[in-house]
Amino acid sequence: MKRWDVVVIGGGVAGSTAADLLSDECSVLLLDPDPSNKTCAGILTADYTRKYGVDKSYIERTLKGVKIYYRENEVIIPYTKNTIEYSINRKLFDTYNLNQALDSGAEYRAWSAEDLVETGDCVKVKTSEHTIYADYVIVASGLSEFSQRIAPVKTIGYCAQKRVDGVIDDYFQIHFGYHKGYTWLSPKSTYSLVGSGSPDGYPDIPLYAAGFVTPLEGEGIYYARRSAELAAETILDNCSHSVKGFEKKWRSEFNFTPYQIYKKIASESSEFNFTPYQIYKKIASESATKALITELQRNDRLKTFIEALLTKKDLCKTDYLKILPVLLKIGVLSYFTQP
Ligand SMILES: Cc1cc2nc3c(=O)[nH]c(=O)nc-3n(C[C@H](O)[C@H](O)[C@H](O)COP(=O)(O)OP(=O)(O)OC[C@H]3O[C@@H](n4cnc5c(N)ncnc54)[C@H](O)[C@@H]3O)c2cc1C
Repeated sequence: MKRWDVVVIGGGVAGSTAADLLSDECSVLLLDPDPSNKTCAGILTADYTRKYGVDKSYIERTLKGVKIYYRENEVIIPYTKNTIEYSINRKLFDTYNLNQALDSGAEYRAWSAEDLVETGDCVKVKTSEHTIYADYVIVASGLSEFSQRIAPVKTIGYCAQKRVDGVIDDYFQIHFGYHKGYTWLSPKSTYSLVGSGSPDGYPDIPLYAAGFVTPLEGEGIYYARRSAELAAETILDNCSHSVKGFEKKWRSEFNFTPYQIYKKIASESSEFNFTPYQIYKKIASESATKALITELQRNDRLKTFIEALLTKKDLCKTDYLKILPVLLKIGVLSYFTQP
């Protein structure tokens, strides 16, 4: 029975990236029964395009910006020439990434992983077809039943998405204010994807659990690819505590929850007597969203700041300090407008 250096479970962007990077130096087997069938709005963000570039085979549309709505209020954030975002065909994108891994020498089987057992000197992977053995296993199976069994997540958001004919324009739309989550419209070549996500789920429609995404804008493809790079690096470093090593790299790079953003804002200004948690609670509330959108419409500085946050431009301490009074004003406004 062949023993693999690495078995990768899952052929989404994370699994294919890890398999691609490791195949030069290791024997790699990638497992996925259904690698190109994802629920995704398919927005390839500026983070991704700047770092990894794109292949035209999967691009559906070049986006001009984002439109954010709070009920009847609209804020248009056009992209600058340095911010290039695309609306992509997720199926073609996943196929492209998987082919890159296969071209680099990874082998692929359409098997489903069913169980993992660490045996001391290797890992035993029980699959739908055979039991296989590996020195390392990368679990890149998204938010699947299998991942839930290996490393359960505590908080799950739910979403549903539908394809509709036609395209309104070249802007990605995000709508807040109708339920606890938000709704999006993603323009493709001749059709659009309309979706909605909520922390509570919906009683009448099929539910899809959202994958690994940033809380600010729902971006996940960049983070899946980057975390797979960190996993591959950790294996190539050959360190004895690979899981801890990966986790350390991962945590130091993905320090991005809204709470941490507001903590950073607060820690950089001691003049204001607001604890980070108070700011976070205010900003996260529905009335704060309304106040934020209203303020966005008349405050160019806030608009530039939010655009920089959304497009991950490097923000320095002065940028946070400049925006702090506006955020506090929103906090105060929303406090007085709470239902
Ligand atoms: C509705 C929605 C919209 C989104 N929109 C965007 C967006 O516009 N832009 C963006 O950047 N991100 C978006 N995301 C997030 C993005 O889709 C995910 O972050 C990304 O797909 C995660 O990649 P992954 O490779 O980790 O997992 P996935 O892409 O989920 O891939 C996991 C793979 O594992 C396989 N698998 C599962 N179980 C097993 C098993 N037992 N054995 C073998 N294989 C298995 C699956 O078949 C799948 O192919 C969205 C997410 C959702 C839910």
